[in-house]
Amino acid sequence: TIEEPSQTLVDMIDDAVGRFRRRTALEFFGAETSYGELGEQIARAAEGLRRLGVEAGDRVAIVLPNCPQHVVAFYAVLRLGAIVVEHNPLYTPPELRHQFEDHGAKVAIVWNSVADTVAEFPGDIRPAHIVAIDLTRAFPLGKRLALRLPIPRARRSRAALTTTPTARGLVAWERLTSRRALSKRHPRPAIDDTAVLQYTSGTTGRPKGAVLSHRNLRANAMQGRAWVPGLAEGEEVFFGVLPLFHAYGMTLCLTFAMSIGARLVLFPTFDSKLVLDAARHSPPTFLPAVPPIYDRLVRDAVKQPRALRSIRFAISGAMSLPIATVDLWENATGGLLVEGYGMTESSPITLGNPMGPTRRPGTVGVPFPSTEIRVVDPDDPEVDLPQGEAGELLVRGPQVFQGYWRRPAETAETLLPGGWLRTGDIVRVSGDGFVTIVDRRKELIITGGFNVSPSEVEVALLAHPDVRGAAVVGLPGRSGGEVVAAGVELREGAVFDETALRDFCRASLTPYKVPKRIEPFDELPRSLIGKVLRREVRDALLDRVG
Ligand code: ATP
Ligand code: MG
Repeated sequence: TIEEPSQTLVDMIDDAVGRFRRRTALEFFGAETSYGELGEQIARAAEGLRRLGVEAGDRVAIVLPNCPQHVVAFYAVLRLGAIVVEHNPLYTPPELRHQFEDHGAKVAIVWNSVADTVAEFPGDIRPAHIVAIDLTRAFPLGKRLALRLPIPRARRSRAALTTTPTARGLVAWERLTSRRALSKRHPRPAIDDTAVLQYTSGTTGRPKGAVLSHRNLRANAMQGRAWVPGLAEGEEVFFGVLPLFHAYGMTLCLTFAMSIGARLVLFPTFDSKLVLDAARHSPPTFLPAVPPIYDRLVRDAVKQPRALRSIRFAISGAMSLPIATVDLWENATGGLLVEGYGMTESSPITLGNPMGPTRRPGTVGVPFPSTEIRVVDPDDPEVDLPQGEAGELLVRGPQVFQGYWRRPAETAETLLPGGWLRTGDIVRVSGDGFVTIVDRRKELIITGGFNVSPSEVEVALLAHPDVRGAAVVGLPGRSGGEVVAAGVELREGAVFDETALRDFCRASLTPYKVPKRIEPFDELPRSLIGKVLRREVRDALLDRVG
């Protein structure tokens, strides 16, 4: 177990600023910010926001890729007792608008590329003030950064990056942060106040705002600390390739790094070349990421096999980690690649493999310290299932959220009496307590009375040498049932052959699991963090097959 958290995220960062003052907190394209400087910038930004009228309980939207200002803005908002609302900076105008309508932020801190979009929201949705950041000017290596920002390829033109917004009344970030520091006597948030409104990834529907308190987020960082033994305070180098706007990056990169005085090297987007370049200057020791990133990095590092050797701990989550990726990574780097599990609603991590020889690839490990689990009947969460049977996972612990923002019905469905969180994931637990994720409850396919797990069929397809990606979904079939269908992404040079793929599946799957339809995709739709969006694959297949 962990101790009861006693610090808010604000106390935590102040503590780190005091203890690690001269050490580097942030590194970005070679530019370094010490903990002492970070503390000063946070105090100035907090004063700037206070003057814009931000008060405790107000929502402040952040729409930024990973960059030092993102971190400064995050803690400045929290310092005022206000609530950080994170956004994917690549969301389209309608997606952003939906979120702004939902949270009603008073102030938005955004990068130039979306400043006009936010400024054009209708009066009742538009924040009272918009702080705009020109990321191409703010750094010594601004030009190089401009070419590396995570702009969708279609919009990637020099012009899109360098045009200054035309909307009136924007506040430049430099102006916001040019004044004096916030008074030390300004009231601070309490541990059970809301810290962050974190939207879910939107894999199964529209993103929902998860309300996370200081206690929730602090607890998860403490649990993470207990999970990873042997981290040296003030000595570690974290590589922040995951987006800070996602629960995984926010906790495992940002909060965790700051809580132990680490150097956090920020990347606005994942790019192997950037990572390998930065690794020469600041050898990383800790890397939280997702399976596609580990795959890419190892393949791209073949010519510099030593570049990744400094990484003692690599942590994978958000989607299942193929054992082949574990082998590839561990052989190339000599370090451990260990899988954990979590969700936005739990700050996010609840399960993890032991960081050592007892970890078990193919599973997501055991409950985190101070975390309890149950496996229940997916149709009746009050009924616990016998050990070993597949059922829905419930979790309880100090990292479990407070509910969805302004959605009482969904909150009641998800947060059960007694503080149990319904994960919506179907799992199986081994005799010695290791948890395997089977699938999401809502994505199980029911065909002819049988339950088919899309993941199982995807694994079968992925075993084919021509297949690079696969997504399996249920399409409406006769008499209310579903039909198993698949979208596949082929490796370069491979020729699509539906019959051959079906025959291949038949070798490992019983007939009712074999997809009735397989369709080729140039690229499967994925979320920014890299999850295949089965929902979108399903829509595309419906369009194609009618
Ligand atoms: P939404 O809730 O909006 O549909 P989402 O559930 O993808 O989106 P997140 O909170 O980012 O949003 O993701 C949590 C989910 O990710 C879990 O419920 C689980 O399905 C999946 N997941 C997380 N870690 C793993 C893992 N190690 N293996 C398999 N699936 C995982
Ligand atoms: Mg979810």
